[in-house]
Amino acid sequence: MKLEDYKDISARCSQCNFCQAACPVFRSKGSENWLARNRLNLIREVLIEKTMEPTPRFTEILETCLLCTGCTQSCSSMVPVDEIIIAARSRMAEYAGGVSSLKKKLFSGVIKNSSAMNLMVKAGAVAQKFGMAPGNLPQMSSKPFFSRRSGTLKPDGTAEARVAYYAGCGTNFFYPETGEAATDILLKMNTEVIIPEGLTCCGIPLLSEGDIEGAAEVFRKNIEILASIECDKILMECTSCIMMFMKKGPKLFAADDPVMEKVKAVNAKIENALTYIYQKKNSGINKKAQGSFTCHVPCHLNKSGKGPGTAEILQALTGAEYRELDEPESCCGAGGAYYMKDKELSETIREIKLKDIRKREASVLVTECPMCRYYISRGIPEMEVMHPLEFIKVSMI
Ligand code: SF4
Ligand code: SF4
Repeated sequence: MKLEDYKDISARCSQCNFCQAACPVFRSKGSENWLARNRLNLIREVLIEKTMEPTPRFTEILETCLLCTGCTQSCSSMVPVDEIIIAARSRMAEYAGGVSSLKKKLFSGVIKNSSAMNLMVKAGAVAQKFGMAPGNLPQMSSKPFFSRRSGTLKPDGTAEARVAYYAGCGTNFFYPETGEAATDILLKMNTEVIIPEGLTCCGIPLLSEGDIEGAAEVFRKNIEILASIECDKILMECTSCIMMFMKKGPKLFAADDPVMEKVKAVNAKIENALTYIYQKKNSGINKKAQGSFTCHVPCHLNKSGKGPGTAEILQALTGAEYRELDEPESCCGAGGAYYMKDKELSETIREIKLKDIRKREASVLVTECPMCRYYISRGIPEMEVMHPLEFIKVSMI
């Protein structure tokens, strides 16, 4: 994912502007400055061709992007704009005014070390309880998922399949109930569930900061562990983790890096837990309609994937009434942790989503991304917001 690798690819941009409609920043700010093609043109001139000096305005344009992948997913020339922006952010760390190296070291040091992260989150949970921590993070769980479930979980009946379960940071530290729902449903379906030890963050937060090396380090560690597990499938439930494993992570290594064999073997087994459960839906299902729901589709969900979407799966598994948003796929403004950097922009983007949600008057909003879940629920505290697995758990257990 080095900037030089994207020299020819970035030149494929035909300036067609098809990506305009997909960009939440353009939609909120309404100016050409924020469009993917402008970002690409600037990155080429400043960092690749070096015909212009990097200025504070250039940094601002580079940083004011939620890495939602809307432009990449809608690009007529298949330019991976978000990856080029990440590579440019990484390069900017070398210039004054780029990502602070101290901040980068502290951030990546904690993320790369799962024990340090556990400790920090536990301390954060206590601090939040006593009002001593910033209020712009989800409530950290005093008992993370890995402290609740570990090792190999055996179903009551004879195991019909054996899966490994990767719980991302959002599930582990903020919403352990999502991991409990995933494992409870799988056990009910007579599936043996392995929760591998030593797994850490998927690396997406590091990539967003332009820390490509840090992301490669945690990704390699996770791949080594997952490749060593004997299982039929590797299940995940966070759309950003799935995107990291399937799309971004493999691009962090040279094609001849020995880890690539393991990456391919692991990725061949990865599946969205929701889709896996849906495909096996005949076992253990007991539909109990539970009112109405609406669905926010996270930006990082692979929308080109074949098969039914989240709402369709939930309808089939629960019998609940689905109230579709006008724009289920529009960004909620969270952008991972972007909402902490630019509160005003994120709130402007979120307001469009909230208006859409309020109109539906559904009992529950489901979404597969923990940060979307948190950010939307903060804007609409009166509504119940949960992961789809928690929604279907009621019907299947
Ligand atoms: S990644 Fe999202 S916010 Fe960034 S330029 Fe592309 S569409 Fe806009
Ligand atoms: S859709 Fe792709 S090719 Fe067209 S302007 Fe956007 S980035 Fe360039």
